[in-house]
This record gives sequence, structure tokens and C-alpha cells, in this order.
Amino acid sequence: MTSEQFGSTLPWAEPAWYTGRPSPYYKESHRHLRKTVREWVETNVVPHVESWDAAGEVPKSVYAQCARDGLLAPAAAGREIPEDWRSYPIIGGIKPEEWDGFHDLVFWDELYRGGAISSIFVGLTVGAPPLRLYGSPFLKEKILPDILNGKTRICLAITEPAAGSDVRNLTTTAEKTPDGKHYIVNGEKKWITNGIFSDFFMAAVRTGGAGAEGISFLLIPRHSEGVKCRKIEIGAGRLSATTYITFEDVKVDASYLVGKENGGFGLIMGNFNHERIWIAFQALRGARLCLEDTWAWAMKREVFGKPLIEQPVVRHKFGLMGKKVEELHAWIEQLVYELDHMSHEEGNKRLGGTTALLKVEAGMTGKYVADECVKIFGGLGLTKTGQGARVEAISRGVIGLIVPGGSEDVMIDLGVREALKQSKTMSKAKASRL
Ligand SMILES: Cc1cc2nc3c(=O)[nH]c(=O)nc-3n(C[C@H](O)[C@H](O)[C@H](O)COP(=O)(O)OP(=O)(O)OC[C@H]3O[C@@H](n4cnc5c(N)ncnc54)[C@H](O)[C@@H]3O)c2cc1C
Repeated sequence: MTSEQFGSTLPWAEPAWYTGRPSPYYKESHRHLRKTVREWVETNVVPHVESWDAAGEVPKSVYAQCARDGLLAPAAAGREIPEDWRSYPIIGGIKPEEWDGFHDLVFWDELYRGGAISSIFVGLTVGAPPLRLYGSPFLKEKILPDILNGKTRICLAITEPAAGSDVRNLTTTAEKTPDGKHYIVNGEKKWITNGIFSDFFMAAVRTGGAGAEGISFLLIPRHSEGVKCRKIEIGAGRLSATTYITFEDVKVDASYLVGKENGGFGLIMGNFNHERIWIAFQALRGARLCLEDTWAWAMKREVFGKPLIEQPVVRHKFGLMGKKVEELHAWIEQLVYELDHMSHEEGNKRLGGTTALLKVEAGMTGKYVADECVKIFGGLGLTKTGQGARVEAISRGVIGLIVPGGSEDVMIDLGVREALKQSKTMSKAKASRL
């Protein structure tokens, strides 16, 4: 299906279907969402990003506006709006039953053009799905409406000072009281995005013995006695409020368990999949933004008597960047399509390894493009103001897409192990057919 040209006309600054080329994936509601989110970001985010960054936070009123304008339910839902969420507003008035993985892609792709704004949704995007998918009806009814209305906030708390990649060895304990009515939580969580302004932590805790079999998901109210939070200052992404959390004899109602006791590990691993795709969406748009600004600069800046773009070496750089960005986009679309045609469980089972490798590719592409663009900008690529400012910010932040959500080396290894597992399963099935 073809459509009108939309957005920047510079090469690879926008997805191929924005140029009017045909694509099987997008229909009218995707085009409408694209336009609405772009306008929303241009009006409500772009003019304020610099001042929010200087203040180190996005004002609370903006989050309330996000709720009113229909950004929260899509941010929390991912590729499908659940039936019982259909009364919440959705940006662009997209019908909830029409929302699919490509709406999710367009939503984040456009939102990321506003940079900072997406960081205030991180906790919601990764913390709400376990509650929606595995929380008891009691817990969902009690907690989710305020989260989706923007009155309270949630984040995901898995990582600890001594257990990051190695989730199965986490040490925060949640011991049942003798009457079975509460858990007593002790331990520490580190690097928790949005922690400082969240009301609930979707936390991974040890309720049983050693290893993966002793881990559960527990929703911990932040305002419980014994919870302490302090902000960790990181170079990139100040607005995401990275937090160190300490739990000291924190009493949590046993009904706040999410999923089965000691059955949390598989849920945690499954939950990483959408986070990883969503990180890929961000890396992709970050690369396109770099290209947009760097093209404009290369056509204008004169060096050795001619515009930069007249230098064959510079053109070569653009060619390689464009190729990588288009490859990444095509792979993202393929995965989104596949997930849209599988159940949640099947997607997790069959596409977890591919998703891990896609995240790796996204991080590598994001970093490669940002580095090349910084070089083309010269000194301006290192300054926080001026024409290279966006490229500077993206190049500083790109590592935040490579380590969180599963570090690059660990993801490569996971991708290979999962591919081997799939291959063995297929070969067994093939042998049994013969
Ligand atoms: C900005 C930021 C935000 C974050 N947000 C959250 C959040 O909201 N919630 C949350 O729970 N966590 C969050 N994290 C934590 C993040 O998921 C972890 O930092 C990440 O999983 C890596 O864990 P680690 O830092 O402990 O590194 P380690 O596990 O110590 O690993 C360090 C390095 O060692 C190498 N390595 C480790 N194991 C292997 C292996 N098996 N094979 C090959 N190489 C290996 C890799 O190169 C890896 O990068 C965030 C982190 C950052 C930096």
C-alpha cells in the first residue's frame, strides 16, 4: 500500500514508507497515529527538552497530560491493548481493537523524536506488563487503574549490585511470615529506571532456594516502611531517574505476589522481550535523527572549497549508514510482523533469541551511526548546543541502549543458545515425521 510523503525528505531520515513507497505493514490508522504523535511531540516536548534536561526532571504535569492525551495505555500495553483497558484514552483515537505491533512501532518511533519524553515511560513499559499478564484479578483491579490514569507510577526492579546479567543469582529475599499473610523483604536493587518517582516496584525477589527456581515477582509499594531510594547520576539520560533502592525488613502483603511463588524466573525472561524490541525502536529512530541532522550539515558545511557531501569519503560514510539503518528497520518490521501472528507464549518461546540478536544489531547500528555523524560534524558533534546538539546527545546516550535490558555480549550468547535449541527441536520433529 502506498501513501503520501511525510516528514523529512533527506535520505534515510525517515522510514522508507514515509517517502511514499509501498509497504504491506501500514494502513490508515498507522498513518494517522504517525501524524498525531509527531504533532504531539513537536508541540508538547521539543520546545521544553532543553529546560527539562537542565532541571534534571520532566514536570509532573507533563505526565498527567500524557495520561489525558492517551499515551499511557499504549506505552504500558505494547503490541495489543487488552480488552479490559479499552476505556482508557489512546492517542489519535486509534480503536483499541485495531492496535497492533506496528502501532507500537510507530508510537515509539515518533515519540523518540522527542528524546527525553520516552525516558519517563520506561518504568511503565517494563513494569506494568507483568502485573497485567500475571497479577491476580484483585491486584490488577486495585493497582492498574491509577497507573493507567497517571495517578501512580510503576517500574521494574530486577538488577542488584551483585546480580545484573546473572539474574538467577539475585539475593534480595522475601520471606513469608509464619501466618502466611506477608512477605518480609530485605536487599538492594541498583540501576532502577524511574525508581525515585515510582509508587510501585515490580521486583524480582528470592522466595525459595538458590538459582532460578527460587525467584518470584513481588509488587512492592514504594511508600512502605523500610524502603529507601537514592538517585544515581549517570552521564546520559538524567531524566530517566536511575535509582538505588534499599529494602530493610519491608512488610509486603502476600496478595502482592505476581504469578506463582518461585515461578518468577520464566516471567522475568519473557518480560525482557518487549523491552528489547522497544530498545531497538529507540536505537533506530536515534540513528535516523543523527542522519537527518548530519545530512543537513554535510550539504551546508564547506571544507577544502566544497561542501562536505562532495567528498567521496563522506558520501561513503552516508552510504554505509543508510544501508545499516534500512537493514535494521527491515529486521524490526519482520519481527513485529511475526510477533503479531503468534500468541504471547509462542512469541516468547520461538523469538526470544532473535529478539536478543535484534537488540544487539540495534545497539551496534545506533552506535556506529552516532559515531560517524559525530565525526562528520567535527567539533560541533561534541557540543551540547548548536547544530550538532542532537547528535551529541544521541552519541552520549547510545550506550544506554547497549547495556540495559541485557548487555550486548550476553545477548549474543543468548541468541546463539536459543538458535541451537530451536534447531534441535526442529530436527527432532523432522526425525519423528520420517
Ligand atoms: C541506565 C541503566 C538503566 C537500567 N535500568 C534498569 C531497570 O529499570 N531495572 C533493572 O532491573 N535493571 C536496570 N538496569 C540494569 C541493567 O539491566 C544491567 O546493568 C545489565 O543487565 C548488566 O548488568 P551489570 O551492570 O550487573 O553487568 P554485569 O552482569 O556485571 O556484566 C558486565 C559485562 O560483563 C560481560 N558479561 C557478563 N556476563 C557475560 C556472559 N555470560 N557472557 C559474556 N559476557 C558477559 C558483558 O560485557 C557485560 O556488559 C539498568 C542499567 C543501566 C546502566
